[in-house]
Amino acid sequence: MINRRLLLLSGVAVAAVAGIRWLDGSDVEAAGAFEIDKSDSEWRRILTKPQYEVLRLHHTEIPGSSPLNREKRKGVFSCAACDLPLFSSETKFESGTGWPSFYRPLPNAVGTRTDRVLLIPRTEVHCRRCGGHLGHVFSDGPPPTGQRYCMNGIAMTFMPDVPA
Ligand SMILES: [Zn+2]
Repeated sequence: MINRRLLLLSGVAVAAVAGIRWLDGSDVEAAGAFEIDKSDSEWRRILTKPQYEVLRLHHTEIPGSSPLNREKRKGVFSCAACDLPLFSSETKFESGTGWPSFYRPLPNAVGTRTDRVLLIPRTEVHCRRCGGHLGHVFSDGPPPTGQRYCMNGIAMTFMPDVPA
C-alpha cells in the first residue's frame, strides 16, 4: 500500500528546494547530484566565514578585495571548497572589474544555471564537483571565446606552476 502522506511530503520537499534555489527547470541539477555533497554544518566547519558566504550562500566579494585579482603568475586556480582545478592562468585576463576574470574554464570543471536573483537573469557558475558558487559568466569577454567568467577570488585557491 502506498503511503500517501510520505508521497505528499516528498513532493513538498522537492518543490521547496527548487523554489529556494531559484533555478530554471531546464538546467536544474537534482538535489544531491554533486559528486561532493556535504551538509551545511560540514561546509561551515571546512570553510572560512567569507568563503562559506560566497561558495554556499552565493554572496559576492567586494571588488578588488581578493589577491587573486592581481595574480599574474602561471598556474592553476582551484575550487576553495573541494580543490578541483577550475581555470588555467593561460585564460586569465584583466577585465577591470576587480574580480578575477577568465575567458574559458578547464574542461569539465564548472556547471552553470540561470540565476534570477536580480531583475535581469544571469548565468551563475559553480564548481562541477561540489556545487560551490563561483561567480557568473557574461558574453562580453575577449577572444577567442567572447566569454567573461567573472569569479570570486575567495572561492578559489591558486597554485603556481613549479619552475622547471
Ligand atoms: Zn568544488
